[in-house]
Amino acid sequence: MVVGAGLAGIRSIEALRAHGFAGRITLVGEEAHRPYDRPPLSKAVLLGAADSSVVDSDLDALDVTLRLGTAAKGLRDGVVETTDGELQFDGLVVATGAAPILLRGEGHQHVLRTIDDALALRAKLLPETRVAIIGAGWIGAEVATAAARAGCQVTVVEADDAPLAGALPVGAYTIPWYAEAGVELLLGTKVGTVDPDGLTLLTGDRIEADVVVTGVGVRPAVAWLEGSDVELDNGVLVDEHLRTFAPNVVAVGDCANWWSRRFGRRMRIEHWDNALNGPDVAAATLMGESAVFDPVPYFWSEQFNHMVQYAGHHAGARMILRGDPERDAGWSVCWLTDDHRLTAILTVDRPRDLLQGRRLVESRQRVDVVRLADPGVTLRDC
Ligand code: FAD
Repeated sequence: MVVGAGLAGIRSIEALRAHGFAGRITLVGEEAHRPYDRPPLSKAVLLGAADSSVVDSDLDALDVTLRLGTAAKGLRDGVVETTDGELQFDGLVVATGAAPILLRGEGHQHVLRTIDDALALRAKLLPETRVAIIGAGWIGAEVATAAARAGCQVTVVEADDAPLAGALPVGAYTIPWYAEAGVELLLGTKVGTVDPDGLTLLTGDRIEADVVVTGVGVRPAVAWLEGSDVELDNGVLVDEHLRTFAPNVVAVGDCANWWSRRFGRRMRIEHWDNALNGPDVAAATLMGESAVFDPVPYFWSEQFNHMVQYAGHHAGARMILRGDPERDAGWSVCWLTDDHRLTAILTVDRPRDLLQGRRLVESRQRVDVVRLADPGVTLRDC
């Protein structure tokens, strides 16, 4: 059985079949929709270029029983309790993803997690509409991009002193992008409550808005597992095989907190590539094979006409710029270990750097730091 009908859920079913599982598979999903991709929601769907992002997967050929519009409520030995009754399983994939955090207040807060969220928000993005976006993270920046393009008056309110601060130490380089798009960016500004007519800040100041979008992060959607044998700590705790502490239960995607051999630490990654690739290992584990999940994490974001891409993990590493963010059309940031190995790379409009940098992170080979700092030298030759 697979619980969670998102990307990780459907890829888990494909992987189980690919690994030779011929038994019955049931897919339990809280949303009424067939599995779909979320990245287009804040891009093509919000911009009006697409109305759907259903994952291209042949559910008939996969021979899967769909239980959509059904939420899992609890787990005990071999049984998932759902809003539709109890379902028995021999093996279980937990793929329930993550859910947006809401702030205090009586006003309506749009979030952006589901296709329904995206279509509801898109309908509100009309010219001259005053849109307040809370959070200048990945979602906030992409929503601001779409809202500005739709002709809205957009204000982004960010508690930190730079965009993307929760994820990267270089988000300050993106500050000019907001003004160039005609978006007001208020940094170091904390929201107290969301009200029916806008925001009240902690200082007591008010920001009037017709539409409020809250993009302050997500929490793993694992409350249904509380009290079960599955151990929870910032998501579902799994080992390097994506195995939980409960027998025949694996976890994948945004909800899984796995042990990374490569980086020697636990990781929970809320990005598409992770949900795409984890299921192969999870399926192998359920089938009794010995596979290890040890990816170089990767994600991208499309904001303010820039393609931002990242691969690796940069905590504690030395940072080196390739190019000048204030002058160059494209630039990259590399993070190096003490012994000159690339551990992470961020690229802005330099896809080739990303491709070659990702390979360097994977191969762990030493690099020439002087050449690396020269954007004219291809990373392959560093
Ligand atoms: P989800 O996609 O969240 O799927 C989990 C499913 O489980 C959901 O349908 C949920 O309803 C269901 N569920 C939850 N609880 C229960 C329950 N108790 N019972 C049954 N079902 C349940 N990543 C990138 O790398 N680049 C991007 O540009 C990018 N853009 C994004 C834009 C948006 C708007 C969003 C929301 C995400 C974006 N991501 C991006 C992140 C990426 O989409 C996620 O990492 C990915 O969707 C995770 O897949 P998942 O299957 O683990 O979880």
